[in-house]
Amino acid sequence: MSVSRRGFIKLLGAGTACLGLSKLGIDLTPTQAYAAGLKIEGAKESISICPFCACCCNVLVHAKDGKIINVEGDPDYPVSGGGLCAKGAALKSLHMSPERLTKPLYRAPGSAKWVEKDWDWMMERIARRIKDQRDRDFMPKNAEGAVANRLESVFHLGSSQVSNEEAAVLHQMIRAFGIVHFDHQARICHSPSVPALAECFGRGAMTNHFADLANSDAVLIMGSNCAEHHPMTFKWIIKAKEKGAYVMHVDPKFSRTSARSNLHVPIRSGTDIAMLGGMIKYILENKKFFAEFVVNYTNASFLVGEKYSFKDGMFSGFDAAKKKYDKSQWAFEKDSQGLVKRDKTLAHPRCVINVMRDHYSRYDLETVSSVTGVSKADLLKVYETFSATGKPDKAGAFVYALGWTQHSVGVQNIRMSGLIQQLLGNVGVAGGGIAALRGEPNVQGTTDHALLYGYLPGYHNMPTTNFPALDDYLKANTPKSADPMSVNWWQNRPKYIVSLLKSWYGENATKENDFGYSYVPKLDPGQDCSHLYIFDRMYKDKIKGGFCFGHNPCQSIPNSHKVRKAWDKLDWLVMGDVFHNETTDNWRRPGVDPKKCKTEIFLLPSAYRAEKAGTVSNSGRWQMWHYKAAEPLGKSRSMGEMFVEMMNRVRDLYKKEGGAFPDPITKADYPAAFDAEAVARRVNGYFTKDVEVGGKLYKKGQLVPGFPNLKADGSTTSMCWVYCGGYTEEAGNLAKRRDLTQTPMQAKIHLYPKFAWVWPMDRRILYNRASVDVNGKPYNPEKAVIAWENGKWVGDVPDGGQPPMAMKGGVYPFIMHTEGHSQLFGPGREDGPFPEHYEPAETPITTNPFSAQMSNPCMKVIKSDMDELAKNGDPRFPIVLTTYSLTEHWCSGSETRNGPALLEAEPQQYVEMSPQLAKEKGVSNGDVVIVESLRGKTEAVAMVTVRIKPFTIMGKTVHLVGMPFCFGWTKPKCGDTTNRVTVSVGDPNTSIPEYKACLVNLHKAKKVTEL
Ligand code: SF4
Repeated sequence: MSVSRRGFIKLLGAGTACLGLSKLGIDLTPTQAYAAGLKIEGAKESISICPFCACCCNVLVHAKDGKIINVEGDPDYPVSGGGLCAKGAALKSLHMSPERLTKPLYRAPGSAKWVEKDWDWMMERIARRIKDQRDRDFMPKNAEGAVANRLESVFHLGSSQVSNEEAAVLHQMIRAFGIVHFDHQARICHSPSVPALAECFGRGAMTNHFADLANSDAVLIMGSNCAEHHPMTFKWIIKAKEKGAYVMHVDPKFSRTSARSNLHVPIRSGTDIAMLGGMIKYILENKKFFAEFVVNYTNASFLVGEKYSFKDGMFSGFDAAKKKYDKSQWAFEKDSQGLVKRDKTLAHPRCVINVMRDHYSRYDLETVSSVTGVSKADLLKVYETFSATGKPDKAGAFVYALGWTQHSVGVQNIRMSGLIQQLLGNVGVAGGGIAALRGEPNVQGTTDHALLYGYLPGYHNMPTTNFPALDDYLKANTPKSADPMSVNWWQNRPKYIVSLLKSWYGENATKENDFGYSYVPKLDPGQDCSHLYIFDRMYKDKIKGGFCFGHNPCQSIPNSHKVRKAWDKLDWLVMGDVFHNETTDNWRRPGVDPKKCKTEIFLLPSAYRAEKAGTVSNSGRWQMWHYKAAEPLGKSRSMGEMFVEMMNRVRDLYKKEGGAFPDPITKADYPAAFDAEAVARRVNGYFTKDVEVGGKLYKKGQLVPGFPNLKADGSTTSMCWVYCGGYTEEAGNLAKRRDLTQTPMQAKIHLYPKFAWVWPMDRRILYNRASVDVNGKPYNPEKAVIAWENGKWVGDVPDGGQPPMAMKGGVYPFIMHTEGHSQLFGPGREDGPFPEHYEPAETPITTNPFSAQMSNPCMKVIKSDMDELAKNGDPRFPIVLTTYSLTEHWCSGSETRNGPALLEAEPQQYVEMSPQLAKEKGVSNGDVVIVESLRGKTEAVAMVTVRIKPFTIMGKTVHLVGMPFCFGWTKPKCGDTTNRVTVSVGDPNTSIPEYKACLVNLHKAKKVTEL
């Protein structure tokens, strides 16, 4: 028998204990010789996962004598095929870096130095700090006297760096403490993806997966430079191009993505809705939409209620004092049965598609071109090419990242792609959908586990004070549908909430005590506890202490002068990280006297990715296990261990001393020690008693086989329902699967159904029921995702197992939406049912040609003496600044700036500008310049390049400059963060800051270091 390397590894259990293979009748001799030749002599090989972008490239880590000696790409990972970008290639040097934090460090108030302490001393003191602060400030009731049970004076920030298992125990601990100022990197990178994609299709995740991009006939990349920032994604786009796909890159600057695309279209930052509004007009006027799909599967035929209107940039129902809409005015018209009225002929003037046509009738080529700076020829080329995919046998994909999310219209930017994909029928099909290129290593998983103030794990709204009892909460958050053809999956929410509470409070969660619902803190309705507000409240002395793990906000949050001052005001801080960064060492930043900083700081050294086990989820929702290759360096520990010890120490104090509302802490069912495998089982969930489900008996303590088996009666647990089904009694931990086998149907579309595990229920392409007609026949049989054959579905796991729509018992394809249809008209977002073009909060122009409303009327604007906004067309700041990442550095650069090779490749802060602007400013390539805004100044080296061109906007020349956002003052010793100049303004739905467009000016520095 011959066994491939891949097969051999699989048989070995992917680097774990060797089975007795000879006992299975397999002759190992030739295989061992082959595999031995591939390995490093004497080294243990383990599979780990790159801790940078959410491509989540699998890596092989070789360790000898307990030390990591080599890291290389894993050829078996379908996404990368063994490839790594510069950051992944630097993993060994980063893991073994002498700059690593290896010992717990303590900084006393007013001290100018770190002092080494042991873990026991640190943990004891941290637990005391937490308890004292909690006892002092716990709020049993809010200002109106409603039960709140929350703690506002303590925050937690981070982290997308943690595994799913670490996120699960972290979330449980934070809620037990009552902390509501709770946020992580998802807020500032992809928070708009969830409400935007969910409003369109029902779930907030990337619709397809990376390899699926190879199936596209046209790829429209907007708001992403994926060749540089998600390189392993881009290879699938190139595969599509090699097969004849047309690839378009719409982006303010020319980059490596542009270079490999068929067309680069420069656009003024912040005008994507205008450009895509023009595409909707083009599709509707030229009848390019996929009519059968639009009528059957979208809400195009739904009648919008008579209260809805749109006038001069404003939708009906606006309350100017509150800066909020009354969304009930956007409701659909219903009949006496409670069913939405429809006109499938699409003739009724209040049909969604006609309301939409009216809305975008203003987005003509002339106006769109003058606002965006895109030539009419380029607009038409993009519109024609992409809308040509509105046919059954064609597919087009949108690809986006932070270039779309980080705007005051971030959610509506993404909604725009959802509208177009619905019109063209590019949903659920191979090569279609919307690729939300997630940023940080596990930001998908940590969003699923809701390290975010407004959600509980699994996408449930955080309870609020107007829902004092569980029943009130469930009634308000569980939709009902009168339509028998609508699956309305969220009707199951009570099962997921009760299972979550049971997993948090075990035996102490009973029907009589609402399963411990009162232990969960309650926000006031509308209370915003996201990053911008946390720092504003910290600056205003309302927050006293907190936690920051795997996060660098003093570098990465806008208006960093204010953020850093706010950080100075804390009484105590607990931080966990791999390296020092601008946040850990804020107290000794340039120009600051450490003696004046009163903060007591506990800095805990964290294990790095290859030093711990657990799962992470890539952007395509693949949950994958990474193994521990070596012991953590020095005295570092995994964050999971830190969280569990902190919680248990605080619990011990409460048990001993009592204190403010101890029950959420003392009654928690919490692990005594962190074990990723055990937590993975908790995340999946158990039966709490013997239960019969569907004629099958499950015993107490058995793993729940999947979320359809979860119950609302307390007989099941699950720490995050979307992951239930990933760890079963029969198959074990499915995240460890490495099986690359496919059926011919799956191979045709690069579907790998047995590699790792994907939520929900191993479904690789979401909404795949929309890839077939009402009889279950694939629209494109050549690239079928699923098909109804002989009374059953074949192919991918169907998105709902019921028969196709036209068959007996058939259901609509969008099972997560109450009405079963995807939503062109979305009545649930804060700033309108249709995206509308508004200018960024700071804009170089003085009028908006689409309406009298200049900026998003609902955007969040932070107000303080350090938060100034330039007025429209402010002549002092005429230049638009956009920001971006680099291949060589990730996010704030706090890790990658410690890699000598990475730093050599990209050593310093720079500002890209056109030759025309450089000439105007008297700047030469390589000069040091000062970039300034109303918030502050920063230094950068001028990079004069034709990659950026001046725009002509409404007849006037507008310059744009671009700066990477990954540099800071700690290293290298030149330059500082771009965020010294950015704005504290946020999207109304998620409060993501507008990093991608603000107004600046620049001048040549008078000396090498002027600041
Ligand atoms: S940064 Fe992303 S593309 Fe690069 S090696 Fe890591 S996971 Fe792969």
